[in-house]
Amino acid sequence: MIQFEALTKQFADGTLAMHNINLEIPKGQFCVLLGPSGAGKSTLLRSLNGLVEPTSGRIIFAGRPITGRQDLLFMRRRVAMVHQSFNLVPRLTVLTNVLCGLLGRASLIKSLLGVFPREQKHNACRLIESVGLSEEHVYRKASGLSGGQQQRVGIARAFIGDPEVVLADEPVASLDPRISRDIMQLLRNASQARNATVLCSLHQVDLAREFADRIVAMKTGRVVFDGSPSDLTDEV
Ligand code: ADP
Ligand code: ADP
Repeated sequence: MIQFEALTKQFADGTLAMHNINLEIPKGQFCVLLGPSGAGKSTLLRSLNGLVEPTSGRIIFAGRPITGRQDLLFMRRRVAMVHQSFNLVPRLTVLTNVLCGLLGRASLIKSLLGVFPREQKHNACRLIESVGLSEEHVYRKASGLSGGQQQRVGIARAFIGDPEVVLADEPVASLDPRISRDIMQLLRNASQARNATVLCSLHQVDLAREFADRIVAMKTGRVVFDGSPSDLTDEV
């Protein structure tokens, strides 16, 4: 599904955030990027939605080398993101926040007026239920929800556009351990149900072991381990 070929990113200030990353992520895999802060996990994830332009090397996405603007659009349309700090619009309802996941496809006018086709609203409501929220949450403002509930909305927003790849950048870093497990389980179930590929960055080894199909451990921009959770030793 995704190939990274000798991907390198050096920022303008000289920081080498990714150095010669070579990975092949098959469709449907739940791949955890594990590593301490500053390892380059976000940079890698952001290269997949075009927020980071590699300095050298290339990405091949669904068989298509990503080299120009059209390729970038092709990739972006198939990728959704779940954020550490949820990134919901606080004053909007849960429903509208979830529908915002469609903005790439829906027209801007529609979204500004808040008029979405009934079918899309139905889909959104079903998705809201499937992430463990109830009917009474649908018209609540996002700002009134707990952190765990906000991340449930974040996951529903990511999946509404039927993405092929979901990027989750430290999705549980601001949640307590029990809720973190629930959210990881939810992310795993949601992606499995749709055969979506997930790249999820984490710094917690225990969560990585529990939920990953595959762990890619990073340190200072390099891959230091790539394998199944059972092969992960304590050194990395
Ligand atoms: P992680 O997600 O693993 O915490 P990041 O990808 O955010 O790591 O960062 C990797 C390295 O790149 C860090 O040293 C960070 O300070 C640096 N970095 C990230 N973004 C920028 C930027 N826009 N300009 C300069 N350095 C950056
Ligand atoms: P085309 O001529 O096919 O439209 P260009 O070569 O002009 O494409 O590139 C379009 C823009 O996309 C450029 O600004 C380039 O820097 C940027 N770009 C290309 N690949 C990537 C990537 N993987 N991530 C982020 N930006 C990219």
